[in-house]
Amino acid sequence: MNSCHIACFTPPLPDESCYSVLCRCLVRESVSSFRFELQMFNRQRDLSRLLYQPFRFEDLSRWFDDAESRQREYLDLHSVLQYRYPVLAESARRLIRYWRDCHCLAVGELKYLTRAIGFSHLPKQKLCYCNDCVDNDRKTYGETYWHLSHQLPAVVFCPIHETPIAVSDVPISSTRYELIPAEYILRKQAQKEVLCSQSPYDMNLSHDSMWMLYHGFEMDAVKLVMLMSTLGENDLTKVLKEMQRYSNSISALEYSNTEHFILLCRIIGISPQSLVAN
Ligand SMILES: [Zn+2]
Repeated sequence: MNSCHIACFTPPLPDESCYSVLCRCLVRESVSSFRFELQMFNRQRDLSRLLYQPFRFEDLSRWFDDAESRQREYLDLHSVLQYRYPVLAESARRLIRYWRDCHCLAVGELKYLTRAIGFSHLPKQKLCYCNDCVDNDRKTYGETYWHLSHQLPAVVFCPIHETPIAVSDVPISSTRYELIPAEYILRKQAQKEVLCSQSPYDMNLSHDSMWMLYHGFEMDAVKLVMLMSTLGENDLTKVLKEMQRYSNSISALEYSNTEHFILLCRIIGISPQSLVAN
């Protein structure tokens, strides 16, 4: 297959979402074919999916000759696949492993996986960022970008700088059909609303979320279930109460929810790192 070489496609930066990679491409856009490609790409798809999910192998194959080596990089380092992996059903985990081996997934399989790794509710209403990361990105790369970790539901502190996450003017809903580069928005943004901490666990949850984003494939979630089974009834009631205090939306433990998973770890006094498979 002849790939359409996208001259303006720059390598992804650390912790950058695929959506942000496309945003920066648009800024560099020098070839009309890219706009055309984007229209084709976006004709049937929701661009906001790329805030959390990787580029598909079919798209990478059209854009690059070395799509296979890029596929794993985007899956592992620029999507929430690792973050979601430990809590998914085995059928979804099997598909992820198959996908990581650079196989194309069938339409039905992709749909199933997209649903499985998606969030049950919109994690945040607007795109988020960290002021210190913005400064650092500009010094290091000459521009800032949308970081994947800052968009995760439980991240209210920057896992690197430990400063409160700021909220941009960009509603997640407008990322469906529009590419909105971080550099463009954050240069203009005047007020800097920040997310408030709701729980004593928030700093840990922010660090744990970042850790899961890049180490989820190493984890053995069954260890947590085994650990939970050793708790007595009183301890379990206490854990449930703590979880409900953290969020009104938590009425029962959902084992398919990564935020619940890391909160559970912290309430019972362990870190997700201690659940790494041997
Ligand atoms: Zn930061």
